[in-house]
Amino acid sequence: MAASVTVPFLDLKPQIEKLQGELESMFRRVIMSARFAEGPEATAFEQEFASTLTVEHVVGCSSGTAALRLALEALGLKRGDEVITVPNTFIATTEAISQAGGTVVFCDVDPRRGTMDPEQLRNTITPRTFAIVPVHLYGRPADMDPILQIAHQHNLRVVEDACQAHGARYKGRPAGSMGHAGCFSFYPGKNIGAFGEAGCVATNDGAVARAVRLLKDHGQPQKYHHVVEGDNARLDAIQAGVLRIKLRYLEQWNERRREIAALYRELLGSIDGIEVPGHDPALLESYHLYVIHTPHRDRLRAELEQAGIQTALHYPIPLHLQPAYARLGYRKGSFPVAERLAAQLLSLPVYPELDDASVAAVCREITRIMEEIRQEKAPDRHAAVTAG
Ligand SMILES: *Cc1c(COP(=O)(O)O)cnc(C)c1O
Repeated sequence: MAASVTVPFLDLKPQIEKLQGELESMFRRVIMSARFAEGPEATAFEQEFASTLTVEHVVGCSSGTAALRLALEALGLKRGDEVITVPNTFIATTEAISQAGGTVVFCDVDPRRGTMDPEQLRNTITPRTFAIVPVHLYGRPADMDPILQIAHQHNLRVVEDACQAHGARYKGRPAGSMGHAGCFSFYPGKNIGAFGEAGCVATNDGAVARAVRLLKDHGQPQKYHHVVEGDNARLDAIQAGVLRIKLRYLEQWNERRREIAALYRELLGSIDGIEVPGHDPALLESYHLYVIHTPHRDRLRAELEQAGIQTALHYPIPLHLQPAYARLGYRKGSFPVAERLAAQLLSLPVYPELDDASVAAVCREITRIMEEIRQEKAPDRHAAVTAG
């Protein structure tokens, strides 16, 4: 039987308790305004987040999935157009492509970064390619300069999946601000999370912003005047209110996530059989997730669970091997880097309220388990040497 939880994978409660006063006065204000769909609260959040991202426009919407779909539609994706993305992402990335009428095409990732490999991207482009969706996985920005350059050469749109990368930067530029559009999720567990579902599209292109605005509200520039068929994918006023409060803490929270990452790196970086995420000074990561790689993943995870330490897998099966995408015709071996990473990845607890003692406790257990594994293997090695 597993021990009681000593380090949860994620605990949202301490943050809510800290913000309780601010949240309650905001709730009172929004409730008494009796404006629940969009309205001034949503507009204020859009402006504040646009300023954080240094983009011209932010359009709030109902989820990150909706943001990705609406951005692709707003950019003019037509049925059957190919959209290239990576297989090691959450399925929302590719669901959005399919929902917009696009054909999902995968390309493998760089083994060191774990994000889209620009050389693989180059080889994946066909005359039917319309757009590229790089994913800033775990809050680590993809290598955008070569990706943007390739897109420019082939006249392709770039939609950044920045759903895990609020506040992350690539060579000083905010994640979500570099492509034709950048899409964010405010799912509760994200670096800034709503109390329900929310998302947004960021863009410097006024036409794209206008199109997203139209599409997320039934295609009506003016009530009951529908120029196209759209959707109900609006941002709730209450969620916007929550996000406005949390946005003020984003930098501080991300800084704490980076401190935790540095501590993990210090305490785990020299353990045989554990690969900690690489550190690239050109990137400012938002560490939505802190993911290590080890060939002993399943054993390590099970023993950590026994010790009351919760971990998770993001994501255990690459999308090209999911039954949902059998129709695309990929097979095991199609994307060897993404497959190898998926077999070895392990997400450790990381959230701003996690204290140093908990991080140290996680590292102590990992050190102990890896030492145990090393000891078990030692006799074999000895036998092999004496036999030779
Ligand atoms: C969370 C997430 C999404 C989807 O966001 P929702 O708000 O849950 O719809 C898309 N892509 C990635 C990489 C995500 O992590």
